[in-house]
Amino acid sequence: MSRVTNYFKSLLLIELVKGMALTLRYMFLPKYTMRYPMEHIPKSNRFRGLHALRRYANGEERCIACKLCEAVCPALAITIDSAPRASDGQRRTTRYDIDLFKCIYCGFCEESCPVDSIVETHIHEYHFEHRGENVVTKPQLLAIGDRFEAEIAAARAQDAAYR
Ligand code: SF4
Ligand code: SF4
Repeated sequence: MSRVTNYFKSLLLIELVKGMALTLRYMFLPKYTMRYPMEHIPKSNRFRGLHALRRYANGEERCIACKLCEAVCPALAITIDSAPRASDGQRRTTRYDIDLFKCIYCGFCEESCPVDSIVETHIHEYHFEHRGENVVTKPQLLAIGDRFEAEIAAARAQDAAYR
């Protein structure tokens, strides 16, 4: 019986008609396709993109060179050197590199940081054109933090109740 049914289904192109009907129905439904890069989907405030180093409102860098982020990084992407600062003897990083080729954007570094210094921003559109640009340095990370501080602070404020 099923063979006869299948034969007539094939003969009458029932499956094709059902498929076309489905296509026709979806033509008039709201579209899910985004026209990237003109359109962007909203990002979570927990989105883990390009890293940044933050400062306090008075301009002082937050990082105290505790190296917790370096220790916790599962990809060994972070390299830190530190020394006492000449002006006041406080310990500060003299080198803070992140190799973005190694990074797996797990967020462990920002979770481990006791002073909210290293964070991952919403930035996901970046590229490298020359060898070595995959290693972002402390000045670059601080510059990203300076530029996007308002957005970083807003995202962390939204998430504060869950930390
Ligand atoms: S996001 Fe994860 S892998 Fe990347 S630097 Fe931070 S701890 Fe390392
Ligand atoms: S970024 Fe945070 S966790 Fe990493 S060395 Fe600085 S203070 Fe420590």
